[in-house]
Amino acid sequence: MREGTAKAIVALGSNIERERNLPEAIRLLRRAPHVTVERVSRFYESPSVGGPEDAPDFFNAAALICTELDPIQLRRALRHIEQELGRERTDDPNAPRTIDLDVAYFGETELDVNGWVLPDPLAGTAPHVAVPIAEVAPDWIHPTDGRTTKEIAEQIGPGEVRTVMAIHLSTPYSPRAPEDFDDVSDVYAPKFESLVREQLLEIGEDPDREGLQRTPLRVAKAMDFLTSGYSTSLEEVVNNAVFDAEGAEEMVLVKDIEFYSMCEHHMLPFFGKAAVAYLPKGKIIGLSKVARIVDVFARRLQVQERLTNQVGDALTEILDPHGVAVVMEGRHLCMMMRGVQKQESAMITSAMRGTFKEDPRTRNEFLDLVV
Ligand code: ZN
Repeated sequence: MREGTAKAIVALGSNIERERNLPEAIRLLRRAPHVTVERVSRFYESPSVGGPEDAPDFFNAAALICTELDPIQLRRALRHIEQELGRERTDDPNAPRTIDLDVAYFGETELDVNGWVLPDPLAGTAPHVAVPIAEVAPDWIHPTDGRTTKEIAEQIGPGEVRTVMAIHLSTPYSPRAPEDFDDVSDVYAPKFESLVREQLLEIGEDPDREGLQRTPLRVAKAMDFLTSGYSTSLEEVVNNAVFDAEGAEEMVLVKDIEFYSMCEHHMLPFFGKAAVAYLPKGKIIGLSKVARIVDVFARRLQVQERLTNQVGDALTEILDPHGVAVVMEGRHLCMMMRGVQKQESAMITSAMRGTFKEDPRTRNEFLDLVV
């Protein structure tokens, strides 16, 4: 794994079941380990270049990402997504394909390995690659020729490329506002949405009635956010916010950290507050990062005990402190809404590491501050 993160631009294209495959590819890209999708372009349509005369038109798009992978690892991750979407690479470079994912730019990297060239030469010559790229990163400078992607796209011109649709692909990390998009298509996560639709049918609902028409889309987006912890790494959260603090020996305590998670037994929410403390051994971490660490583990299917332990273990790993203490108090909708219906009951879990585990005085000092 490389040190730190790099920005890269991925070019996407599909001309087999493109309405399904392009959004699904973006979803899988968002889920790829060590990849964060920051921006996605609208979809553009363009004729197949160099293929048979009756080859179907393509949908093209571009994604601005940041990644901890190096260029070769990223390329491998993209191949993996292609395989998941049924891409078969043949000798014919112009054959129709379910999906095409290419690294167009990788930071300022220039390379040529066995004919694999970065930046992708098409980014400087082909409208169907250059135009979507200019939309997601207009100020990105081409490392070889010094022009911005916007200048490149303007100079080659749109050719036969036209905007066909814009879809809401804003992620929790995306700076895009919905009003930045024109027409809105209801495609976000095709497979997931059709499962939600099935679910609605199964409970006796009519997924086509007005109030439910966009529900599969909304559920898909909500679930993506609520389970985003699976695709967020600790390194990207901590991101250089660990500081040397020689002589800092006093307990650091962050309390009243709100958390929202979903129980893995019923996929219903549980939520509450966490208190996290540590006794530093030369290293401290930015206070807001403690809450972000809680989020990374909360945004998954969880049981509260494991969530508590994972937060404790993560801080131990990051700071190597004398000790860590985590207490979480959660209310579980699966208990409150159904079954026993004990609406007032809260569940308290704790994880004690190092000094907090071994020394009752330290533990009590923490508990006195928290309870
Ligand atoms: Zn439950």
